[in-house]
Amino acid sequence: MSFQDEIIVLKEVQYKDYDKILQCFSKKNGKIQVMARSARRANNENMSIAQIMNHSLVNIYLNKDMYILTNGSVINHFYEMRNNYESYVYGNYVLEILNHVLQENENYSKIFDMSVKILLMLEHHPEKMNYFIAAYEIKLISILGYKPELDSCSHCGGNEKAFLFSIEEGGIVCKKCTALQSGLSVAPDDIAAIRRLIGTRFDDIKDLNHISNRALSIINAYFNHYIGKDNFKSLKLIR
Ligand SMILES: [Zn+2]
Repeated sequence: MSFQDEIIVLKEVQYKDYDKILQCFSKKNGKIQVMARSARRANNENMSIAQIMNHSLVNIYLNKDMYILTNGSVINHFYEMRNNYESYVYGNYVLEILNHVLQENENYSKIFDMSVKILLMLEHHPEKMNYFIAAYEIKLISILGYKPELDSCSHCGGNEKAFLFSIEEGGIVCKKCTALQSGLSVAPDDIAAIRRLIGTRFDDIKDLNHISNRALSIINAYFNHYIGKDNFKSLKLIR
């Protein structure tokens, strides 16, 4: 069975003398392993497709339970990102996140498009890298079913204003409930900033300003908690 799909290469492993096994995020099939035969031979037509991070439109065929790359063309190389060390580290962080959260044979087209978008933004707008990463984390965790509660107290459900943000309760906590619930102290601006990062399209994130560091670190802690991972190899290079 043959099909066409878009892929992002999450990981590449050398196999035999000239082949590669690619861990791919496929738009229609989730996380799949794809055999790229002869991809390490000079002048092989699939050499460029088989590079980590590249985004390509490819033809694949399924032979028993093995996906095999036939041919295709690269849509985004993210060349410029590779010239900015910090962007490149965060690009790899995105790949590491995807490798951790994606399952096989699931359709994640929304997450796929968002992932291509953030890699492009890291490449072209590195000055707003922190905002893009936080936006990616909070949008992704929301799509995965853990959207934080920012409108009413996540403990009592009341409409008092936010006093704390509780990672475990999954959102804001009002003053009345702070005796019962621990959390990180927040100002209304922090909550407004988190809301803006969720509600703003990726293309427009670069125009945001005044997102507090506290909002960014709450998002990161929240994200790590709900995806169940906080030791990212890629980030060890900069943090
Ligand atoms: Zn409450």
